[in-house]
Amino acid sequence: MAEKQCDLCAGTEFETIGNRDRHGAPLESVICKTCGLVAHGNIPTDAELAHYYATEYRQSYHGEMTPSDRRVMRAWKNGERIFKQLQPVIDPNAEVFEVGAGIGCTVKVFELNGHPASGIEPGEGFQTYSQQRLLTDVVRGDLFEQPRDHSRELVLLVHVIEHFNSPRRALEYIRGMLSDQGQFYVECPNIAAPFARRSKMFHYAHIHNFTPSSLKMLAESCGFRLEQQFGSPEDPNLQMLFSCSEKTAPEIDADNYQQTMQVINGATPLRYHMRPYYFTSRFAKVASYLKEHLTAKQFVAKVVQECQQFPPIQQDDEPFEFRSAA
Ligand SMILES: [Zn+2]
Repeated sequence: MAEKQCDLCAGTEFETIGNRDRHGAPLESVICKTCGLVAHGNIPTDAELAHYYATEYRQSYHGEMTPSDRRVMRAWKNGERIFKQLQPVIDPNAEVFEVGAGIGCTVKVFELNGHPASGIEPGEGFQTYSQQRLLTDVVRGDLFEQPRDHSRELVLLVHVIEHFNSPRRALEYIRGMLSDQGQFYVECPNIAAPFARRSKMFHYAHIHNFTPSSLKMLAESCGFRLEQQFGSPEDPNLQMLFSCSEKTAPEIDADNYQQTMQVINGATPLRYHMRPYYFTSRFAKVASYLKEHLTAKQFVAKVVQECQQFPPIQQDDEPFEFRSAA
């Protein structure tokens, strides 16, 4: 077997930082001693991943084929947040393409705000819901089937990058889909955020775990340049917007390894529970959870009604006035 190489820096020296996943099942997690990227000790092959997603993932992770109202409501609000965040820094006419679009809420929010928007989603249940209930242009599809014709203007990758067995391959592929003026927005869990316990950090489906520094290093070595990072360094999710640039050799942040180790070693229950605002945020969470149950159904009914009035904008459609004049 070939020697294990870090997907970010091609380093070959690793340190084991975990032996169990968050449910207590065996799972080795390692950190690259050169760049600090955290990954599984054994990176699953494409075939192993395909098998996992076809069988276990839906039951163990999402547990639902058709999204619940609560999930749709959350996804919709999340889509609105992403839109508001990006609106000031993107072209108002930019065509949007989401890889792993899920329920399609983000795609639809961009569309309702005047952007031609489409996406791909491998999961049948969510994709069907997206197309039929929200009338989105989200089709079933895989990233590596998309044309690399430099035609895309803005690609979104929200909670997807951590699932690839080679995020480098995915980002280099996406760079080939984007025009040289294109933008790339990525969101994923932040392993540098305060976690309750080291034992809760790792999940089989999350093959790579990023800090702000490792995500930036990886993207920049795949032909992107960081334009803006949203949120604070302690946010549970990284949110970064990149523009396209020349592909360069990875510029290694030599401090990332030590800093990531400090975060991991400091991730004790005490530290988590002593965070300022822990109690208030805990209370707010319970309150918002209850509120969610009460309001989700109504909220989603309204969203679906709104979506159904607006079928996707087709770019090659003739202008509306021509059609009505004929
Ligand atoms: Zn590395």
